[in-house]
Amino acid sequence: MSCNDDDVDCAEVLARVYAFLDHELDGRALTYDEIEAHLDGCGSCLSKYDLERAVRQVLARSCACEHAPDALRMKVLAQIREVRIQVTEDITDSGLPRI
Ligand SMILES: [Zn+2]
Repeated sequence: MSCNDDDVDCAEVLARVYAFLDHELDGRALTYDEIEAHLDGCGSCLSKYDLERAVRQVLARSCACEHAPDALRMKVLAQIREVRIQVTEDITDSGLPRI
């Protein structure tokens, strides 16, 4: 199933978000251009991509080593999810973000 008019599948994109961020796409299924084009037009894939990218930025700042410990990664990921849920709930409740 596709979110927009192109024939790129959301599941295909999400399965490759990590490889996309790591610049490790093997090129067999989707190219960088195809994924970028899909993220441009698909909110749900873009939010997943943004979340993963945000985690990596936090980890890059807080940890000099290339691979952060899984525990730290999960902790950061959970905190970002929490913030996002709060923001989403605020928008849903009032119709406007309460900041
Ligand atoms: Zn999508």
